[in-house]
Amino acid sequence: MSKYLSIAIDGPSGAGKSTLAKMCAEKFGFIYVDTGAIYRTVGVAVRSAGLAPKDEKGVEALLDSLNISIKYGGDGLQRMLLNGGDVTEALRQPEISLYASDISAMPAVRAFLLDKQRGFAENGPVIMDGRDIGTVVLPDADLKIFLTAAPEERARRRFAELALRGVETCYQDVLKDILYRDKNDSARSAAPLRPAKDAVILDTTGNSIEKSFGLLCVLIGEKLPG
Ligand code: C5P
Repeated sequence: MSKYLSIAIDGPSGAGKSTLAKMCAEKFGFIYVDTGAIYRTVGVAVRSAGLAPKDEKGVEALLDSLNISIKYGGDGLQRMLLNGGDVTEALRQPEISLYASDISAMPAVRAFLLDKQRGFAENGPVIMDGRDIGTVVLPDADLKIFLTAAPEERARRRFAELALRGVETCYQDVLKDILYRDKNDSARSAAPLRPAKDAVILDTTGNSIEKSFGLLCVLIGEKLPG
């Protein structure tokens, strides 16, 4: 168990986990670890190797050659390095979402990334977001939050975020992608998406980001010493 405070935020795609976790990390001085970006980095490696995202044997054989690390930029934002090269920009391509979703159902991939993720929580107080942080990666986290929202609202948010970044797509495709990933993430047998027994469930449907941030700050404030 880490000597530092740890906060786990889990939930489906587009629930606002990374935006809110980043805001909380900044306010409280925590390290922020976006574990989706780590799975996406494996997705980039699989695509670069010319493998199909469901090629379990091929993906397994590739894992040992992967060196994945995190570098924090001057802005405090997480950048992902794959075998020394910065792949951060490639991670948000819609195609990589699907690779990440498929490869993350493979037990060998999850085992490969488990200790790495735990290691990132040893460096200081941490807020980590993903799908299985409260259930598998940090089962002793001081606070577990399961953030969710209606799929249509999550698709609207994700669509707006992609448009802002100049990624060309349409709302229906984003919704389809979210529904596909919800199904994949919840139905897989390896670390399926579900709230930990001791998680606080926060449904953000209809909330502004400020409102959800305020609710999270209260929950985190209660866990801080003194
Ligand atoms: O959070 P994000 O959408 O970037 O994650 C990409 C994919 O990685 C998810 O659809 C999910 O399948 C997978 N993932 C996971 N476990 C985590 C984080 C992400 O399975 N802890």
